[in-house]
Amino acid sequence: MPDRYMKVQRIEHGTVIDHILAGSAFDVLSVLGLSNDRSMSILINTQSKKGGKKDILKIEDVELSEQQANRVALVSPQATINIIVDGEVVKKFQAEAPKVVRGILTCSNPNCISNQNEPVVSEFKLGSDKTHRYVCTYCERDLVDVAKRVCS
Ligand SMILES: [Zn+2]
Repeated sequence: MPDRYMKVQRIEHGTVIDHILAGSAFDVLSVLGLSNDRSMSILINTQSKKGGKKDILKIEDVELSEQQANRVALVSPQATINIIVDGEVVKKFQAEAPKVVRGILTCSNPNCISNQNEPVVSEFKLGSDKTHRYVCTYCERDLVDVAKRVCS
């Protein structure tokens, strides 16, 4: 066998988002709102050591804050965030679904007050059950297709 090659290059500085729900890497990018000019690697449906498939996202020269990272949990609750500096993991934590999401997402209900050009910031609350469901504070409509509801 020739030298083994790495599927994706290590990054020296940036953020690695691991254990993304398989097939959700692009949704994660949407909710993070990162611009396309970033250098990044995306692995889709790669084998997880824990069994099953996962996606991995490596973003160079961006250190996500915990607040930003928590947005990841909106589309992929199990994701872990690794902050890399000088090739070493300096911080590792799990994205935590925010209880309240303000201003990042739009309500799918066209009649919702948050879509009426009123000075109202959209707001969604995490349901108390384990279904990981968000509901609009104003019209109580369920939030679906989160990645498509990110404000542009
Ligand atoms: Zn609404």
